[in-house]
Amino acid sequence: MKVQEKLSVINERIQTACRQSGRNPEEIQIIAVTKYVSAARAEEALEAGVLHLGENRDDGLADKYNVLGDRAVWHFIGSLQSRKVKNIIGRVYYIHSLDRLSLAAEIDKRTSEPVQCFVQVNTSGEESKHGLKPEETADFIRSCSSFPSIRIAGLMTMAPDTEDTSLIRTTFRRLRELREEIQEMNLSHAPCRELSMGMSNDYEIAIEEGATFIRIGTSLVG
Ligand SMILES: *Cc1c(COP(=O)(O)O)cnc(C)c1O
Repeated sequence: MKVQEKLSVINERIQTACRQSGRNPEEIQIIAVTKYVSAARAEEALEAGVLHLGENRDDGLADKYNVLGDRAVWHFIGSLQSRKVKNIIGRVYYIHSLDRLSLAAEIDKRTSEPVQCFVQVNTSGEESKHGLKPEETADFIRSCSSFPSIRIAGLMTMAPDTEDTSLIRTTFRRLRELREEIQEMNLSHAPCRELSMGMSNDYEIAIEEGATFIRIGTSLVG
């Protein structure tokens, strides 16, 4: 199926989720997660009007960046090893997986430009998930002020692998509550306006709970 057709379906569902929760659809940006597909398919997403593309490996990013360059706003969405930072800096505008000070230090070492980061938080408590504990997040973000190029754009989480939608909702809601706590700290390096949450199977719940970036692979470009 064409990306354009899949995008229409997703846009309809975004509209519905927004109506149900009293939100403005313009607050929500779609990141097309292109990690499993070709550069040609990623380009199709751009042509359908998606501006944001997400990759979770440095080599996948490099391959597609070489073809598409700055026609897309690039997001790095996967767990990030410090030694790979140098391969993505200068290409990505957003990093969604900041979860340790050593990574913040490495990013800061590699650039003097501001890098928009999401702090990944494990709001589900699942052992298998990356991310900080919710209660560690505020202190972590405070400490990031010692790295001049780190900007905390927002928070990111992954829902648990479950059919239990109320558990998924709780995971997303916790991230929104945490964002309020961070915003109340009024830190100049951490405006923390964005919430990156929701994937193909759960983006409507994420929108109802305040997502501003949804990360969609399978149901958009798959
Ligand atoms: C792969 C991936 C997605 C997209 O998942 P789909 O279920 O294919 O929509 C979103 N976020 C992250 C971090 C991913 O690794």
